[in-house]
Amino acid sequence: MKIKYDKTIWWKMCREKLKREYQERGITSCELKFDGCMKDFAMSFHHRHKRWWYINKPDLLGYFNQTVLTCASCHQKAEASTELTKYVFKTLRNDNPEG
Ligand SMILES: [Zn+2]
Repeated sequence: MKIKYDKTIWWKMCREKLKREYQERGITSCELKFDGCMKDFAMSFHHRHKRWWYINKPDLLGYFNQTVLTCASCHQKAEASTELTKYVFKTLRNDNPEG
């Protein structure tokens, strides 16, 4: 029997993995630094793609190249704009978009 992870638990595990990886890379505050940036306040991960994109590739949710670390303010701005998100990932994660 294949155990299917609950989505919430899966993301929690991915987040723990990412947190460790960002720590190891020395990234500990918001990477976007838009106007009104809150630096290390209410930080979370902003993904390269919308959630539905990861449905059939759940492993990618926990990949460094699929995420940037953001404060609450910058996350909101990036989330609201596909163009801005594209730009952010091109600038900060200039690499294979699938990776
Ligand atoms: Zn910020």
